[in-house]
This record gives sequence, C-alpha cells and structure tokens, in this order.
Amino acid sequence: MFATLSDRLTGILTKLRSKGRLTDADIDAAAREIRLALLEADVALPVVRVFINAVKERARGAEVSQALNPGQQVIKIVHEELIGILGGEARRLQFAKQPPTVIMLAGLQGSGKTTLAGKLGRWLREQGHQPLLVAADLQRPNAVNQLQVLGERANLEVYAPQPGNGVGDPVQVARDALDHARRQARDIVIVDTAGRLGVDAEMMAQAAAIRDATSPDETLFVIDAMVGQDAVTTAEAFRDGVGITGVVLAKLDGDARGGAALSVRHVTGQPILFASTGEKLDDFDVFHPDRLAGRILG
Ligand code: GDP
Repeated sequence: MFATLSDRLTGILTKLRSKGRLTDADIDAAAREIRLALLEADVALPVVRVFINAVKERARGAEVSQALNPGQQVIKIVHEELIGILGGEARRLQFAKQPPTVIMLAGLQGSGKTTLAGKLGRWLREQGHQPLLVAADLQRPNAVNQLQVLGERANLEVYAPQPGNGVGDPVQVARDALDHARRQARDIVIVDTAGRLGVDAEMMAQAAAIRDATSPDETLFVIDAMVGQDAVTTAEAFRDGVGITGVVLAKLDGDARGGAALSVRHVTGQPILFASTGEKLDDFDVFHPDRLAGRILG
C-alpha cells in the first residue's frame, strides 16, 4: 500500500534527518520534492498546495528544540500534516438517539458497497449491536443474492424484496425494512443502494428518495481507492447531490498510489470513517489517520 509514496517521502526526509541546521533553501528543496511525490501519487492539486504551504511555513518557523534536531522537526511536521490531511482524529459512527440507527451506503457500481455492508454489519454485531442488512440495490442483477450470501456467511439477517413486497422499488424495500427492523428490535439498519458505472442523475434521484424515506443517521460514500482522484470527484458530486456524512475507503489493499485516500477528506470536507482492505469479511477497520500517516512515513 502506497509503497512508492512511502519510499519517496522517507528518502526525502532521511536526507534531512542528520542535518544540524536547515536553511530556507534546504526547506524549499525538500518541499519541492515532497510536492512532486504527492502529485505522482495522484493527490489532488489543492490538497498538495495546502499541505506544502503548511509544511514550509511550520518548518521555517520551527523553534529550536532541545529534543529534536531541525531535520527531525521537519519529519514531525510532515507526519502531523499528513494526519491532518487524513482528518485528524478517527471519527466515530453516529448513532440515533432513538434506534434503529440507519446507515445508508452509496457509491458507484463496483466500489465495494455490498461487501462493505457485510463487513460493517459483522463489525457492529461484534460491538453488541443487532444489525439488519437491507438489499436495496435492485440495479445490479446479482446484488441482492450477493448480500444474502454475505449475510449467511456473517450470520446476519438480510431484508430482501419478496414477491408482492417492493420488487423493483428500492424505496419501498428500504421503507419496509425499517418497519421490519422496528418490529424485530434491530438497532441498526444498513441499507445497500444501487450504484451506476458513472455519476448518473437517476442514481442520484434514487439515493435521494431512499434518503428521504429512511432519514439516515449516516450516509457513507464508498469509494474505490484504486480509482484515485476520479473517485474523489464522484464523492463530491454525491455530497452535493444527495448529502453524505462520511466516506469509506474501499480496496485500500490494492491502492498502490494513495491519491484518493490523501485527497478525499480535504476535497469533500467529510471524514473517512472506515477502511476496507480485502475481499474477506474481516478485512475491515475503523480508519485511523495517525496509523495511516505512520505507515506512509515507514
Ligand atoms: P458494489 O457494486 O459497490 O456493491 O461492489 P461489491 O461489494 O460487489 O465489490 C466489487 C468487487 O470488489 C467484488 O469483487 C469484491 O469482492 C471486491 N472488493 C470489495 N471490497 C474490496 C476490498 O476492500 N479489497 C479488495 N481487494 N476487493 C474488494
């Protein structure tokens, strides 16, 4: 994950580590190299600008410290700014005051939504919740079946359309699922919605209709991290068209460059809540900005 970016940054910073004194020219040279490394990792330009300016400003103004030499101080600054760009503190899931908590998953087709529904459901059950998974992706022919298989594997109940029960109408399925969850005392409802191959007015309208019918406590936009910056642009479109409360980075295991992960928080203004790192149900975790920043810097 992010091997090239990680190698480049550690290479640049290692050169500074041993320096007893840093001139403005040293800082500028390092900043230029970091800028290039971020751009090559497909990080969005506005994010690169903000990042580089912050690092330069802080590095120049850094007080002489007893504990750290100037090179080490720059490393510390880069580390802290990486954490900042990834969102700072881990943001926890928001629960409804009055259960059930509704979590709607949105994203393009193939981004990893259905898989995430299973992972998130299983994770929430491990925290003592009683989640219900809802198959409201009626666009992709196999999505309902895929969610049922995941539900079976994770031992989670799946609410799927039945004949005479909302077939073809995802909004009705979501509404009925919510009633079912209340009757069965399920405290969390995870709604898998339909994606398309690209941003599409019909997909947005459907997601908005499901949102209106279920009033989600969280609307999580799932992005395929392997897609890079384009995935971030899609997240922005969804934020503006449907409203999102957070982002999930899926397929982080296959993301060689890191551009989406490092851009999405700043570009969308929304926190990254979870990371999906493989096809198995337990390849999933809460997103910790500090841990990822630590991994990037080796
Ligand atoms: P959806 O169309 O958004 O519901 O996407 P799916 O959940 O069906 O995922 C699309 C493909 O990506 C499937 O083959 C999944 O097994 C795979 N996938 C999902 N999440 C991950 C992940 O975190 N890592 C990897 N490597 N593959 C994933």
